[in-house]
Amino acid sequence: MRCPICNKGEMKPIKDTIKEDGIEFEAFKCSNCGEEIMDMKQLSNLANKYRKLRKAKEIVFSKWGNSIAVRIPSEIVEAYKIKSGGQGILTKDKHGIKIIPTTSHKSNKWKDSERIDETTGDVTDIAIMNFRKRTKNLKDIKLSLPIKIELSSN
Ligand SMILES: [Zn+2]
Repeated sequence: MRCPICNKGEMKPIKDTIKEDGIEFEAFKCSNCGEEIMDMKQLSNLANKYRKLRKAKEIVFSKWGNSIAVRIPSEIVEAYKIKSGGQGILTKDKHGIKIIPTTSHKSNKWKDSERIDETTGDVTDIAIMNFRKRTKNLKDIKLSLPIKIELSSN
């Protein structure tokens, strides 16, 4: 396909990411002038990704003790293979809070799980597995989201 802008270059397929949103897209780029264009299919793919992103952003903050808990929508849970008991890192971002899942629960020795109230989203109960062994010489308990409980003896 010839470039419709400069009429000299060839339009070559590219894959890139919109850095601001972390959204990947496919387009065509001119080998001569650098103009980027999308066909209808590519544009609708991108629009779909933005629609999903916008939907995923609609979250509710709920009270959990003295803290605030966030419920992660199921499509995000699936997309990032987030498992209850898995680990993640919570960091501050230019736009807000960023959660980076680091491991799935497979690599976790203990599978703790939480029970969540369906209407309020509050965590009502936490099941700590193998507590006898783990609470031996217990000195510290660390809780983090997504549910990760660290029991340490030193
Ligand atoms: Zn061009």
